[in-house]
Amino acid sequence: MKKKIYLASPNMSKEGYEQKYVKEAFDTNWIAPLGENVNKFEEELANYVGIKYAAALSSGTAAIHMAFKALDVKQGDIVFCSDLTFSATVNPIIYQNATPVFIDSERDSWNMNPKALEKAFEKYPNPKAVIVVHLYGTPAKIDEIKEICDKHNVPLVEDAAESLGATYKGKQTGTFGKYGIYSFNGNKIITTSGGGMLVSNDEERIAKVRFWATQAREKARHYEHKEIGYNYRMSNIVAGIGRGQLKVLDERIGQKTDIYNNYKEAFKEIEDIEMEPIPENSKPNHWLSVITLKESSNVKPLDIMEALEKENIESRPVWKPMHMQPVFKDYDFIKVEEDAVSKDLFERGVCLPSDTNMTKEDQERVINIIKNLWK
Ligand SMILES: *Cc1c(COP(=O)(O)O)cnc(C)c1O
Repeated sequence: MKKKIYLASPNMSKEGYEQKYVKEAFDTNWIAPLGENVNKFEEELANYVGIKYAAALSSGTAAIHMAFKALDVKQGDIVFCSDLTFSATVNPIIYQNATPVFIDSERDSWNMNPKALEKAFEKYPNPKAVIVVHLYGTPAKIDEIKEICDKHNVPLVEDAAESLGATYKGKQTGTFGKYGIYSFNGNKIITTSGGGMLVSNDEERIAKVRFWATQAREKARHYEHKEIGYNYRMSNIVAGIGRGQLKVLDERIGQKTDIYNNYKEAFKEIEDIEMEPIPENSKPNHWLSVITLKESSNVKPLDIMEALEKENIESRPVWKPMHMQPVFKDYDFIKVEEDAVSKDLFERGVCLPSDTNMTKEDQERVINIIKNLWK
């Protein structure tokens, strides 16, 4: 069996920072709940992205859920949501019994189309919130989107699960809206094995989220509850891994950027292949390197995925758009082009191995297998 190459796998620091923080937690028997690592991880991440407050949670999905709860999203409310994303962006809308309306992508960043967002406001003038995704680590046209939301007085949530460290006009994704969320799931740019973070400049709301996330326990010696709570807090062990990983985030972004540039250079000569574009004003974290194949290409995405699979190499289609998902078929979808852009990207896209554990030779292997399909 040939050496396995992953799409994106955990990559702990060679310095062993993560183990040091985890060991500290062991040595003080502060395994759980909460503790020094959780507080410090919140503080350090908030500092990194340049925001005031952060709440460390059990997953990115939990963070999205808490953002909607903090905005009082509830039954009867409409939430505008990027169409091209992972279902974890949408599910918390449903947890809150609200109604998603999906917004199509534009071609510069593959993210929410500001024109489609405007159109959605014409049809539904009073949504409760907007959630925009920075897909694959590429910033959305966030200042246009923010402006539209501000004009309509509707709060913006940024799903920056895939884009930690990516910037737009020098400002970190996740810090433009009322709330931002990050994920530390196993294949994200940095990982804690599993976990998430909610960030905001609203101190009171972040405190409230920490309260809900620890079962809504009132300050009383006995167990007093006035609200429904959740068990969504991050453990002190997990946070220790996060603190260590944060130290190598910039290094990982550098490695991911190199991977993207290597693919770009290698595929220059193949006209059918286009790299995911880097939009103006944006510095992506290049979490995944994604290509699209021209409509006219005889080689199709499935051919690439199958050829790589045969060689023990992982790849994956572009996310299947939410408006095409059976579970969300009853919800509205707003687009401005005749044919949905999200669907087109889904049909022509392939996510290539973007693992920072890949050697230069590993990446050469991937490139050669793909190039051979055009021989
Ligand atoms: C990974 C991901 C999430 C969910 O994060 P988890 O930590 O796995 O719950 C949400 N949105 C997007 C776009 C993601 O890629």
